[in-house]
Amino acid sequence: MFISKTRKYKSSMECSLKPNDIPMEVYNNTVDTINNNLKSLHRYVSIKKKLLGLDEMHMYDLYVPLIDTVQEHIEYDEAVKTVKEGLKPLGKEYLDIFNEGIEDGWVDIYPNKGKRGGAYSTGDYDTMPYVLLNYDYKLTDVSTLAHEMGHSIHSYYSRKNQPYIYSDYSLFCAEVASTTNESLLMHYLIGNEKDEKRKLYLINQELEQIRTTVFRQVMFAEFEKITHESIENGTPLTGEDLCKIWRNLNKKYFGPDMVVDEEIDMEWSRIPHFYSDFYVYQYATGYAAAHSFANAILKNGESAVEAYKGFLKSGSSDYPINVLRKAGVDMTTPKPLEDTIKRFDELLDMLENV
Ligand SMILES: [Zn+2]
Repeated sequence: MFISKTRKYKSSMECSLKPNDIPMEVYNNTVDTINNNLKSLHRYVSIKKKLLGLDEMHMYDLYVPLIDTVQEHIEYDEAVKTVKEGLKPLGKEYLDIFNEGIEDGWVDIYPNKGKRGGAYSTGDYDTMPYVLLNYDYKLTDVSTLAHEMGHSIHSYYSRKNQPYIYSDYSLFCAEVASTTNESLLMHYLIGNEKDEKRKLYLINQELEQIRTTVFRQVMFAEFEKITHESIENGTPLTGEDLCKIWRNLNKKYFGPDMVVDEEIDMEWSRIPHFYSDFYVYQYATGYAAAHSFANAILKNGESAVEAYKGFLKSGSSDYPINVLRKAGVDMTTPKPLEDTIKRFDELLDMLENV
């Protein structure tokens, strides 16, 4: 708030969004659209409660898998093959680049002495867009390969088509390219799974991803909006106030079937992202944009793929909203997020009917 005042912005939120030219309505639309669709999250809680056979559903029960995790050991070569199948809708050119990356050694696959954990896409303007994995033979590692290659191929296209200064892309756009790949892969896996148990496992995985990346992050975003506005309107907040706001949000988001224990009141204090103001909403917008792209690619084929590749080639040659809009995804409307919620509902239907 101090920075926003000294820089003469109207609010902390404007101060935070302006450098990337993100209109405030994008943020507000995101919060409003989720608020208008909380019944979908309530339905998820109620279905999960029923499937787990619980009398009372608590927050921690959300993390219980619906079925015993399928034990699996997927060799890396098999993972590459699966990802390639999943990404087939992106067309020959994209797959050729993917193959080139795998064969030319973009990817450092396995954990190693001194190598940090997690997975990354990196490199420079004139190097290969390297991928660091810590491959561990699980289905999530297959998904991670699709994700990181999404970043790297985004970098590949942007670096090839843009001068150095525009070759990087903003965070608002970064996770779109990676999540589009994950979304296509998941579509392929669920669509082709014959085994009921494995299918249930996959459906649950995608539902959890939407819950944690979209609903949960928007709840965080709403918390930031409420707290900043309160202070801007001259009402300072104590720790107790923050606990109360957090509690009310949890009640509203999870609905009547969730027992909201007192312990959850403190959760706001352990979210590191709150130190980067107005940051987390981008998880939800990124996911929604990616889902829109994946949908369009599956439905419209080549024309959608061309538009999508236009996005990948743009780097930061224009503001994020414009780059996405030119490729056919308008983040100033609620449509992308509404489509994501539609997918969430569709997965809930599948879950109920398995
Ligand atoms: Zn990523």
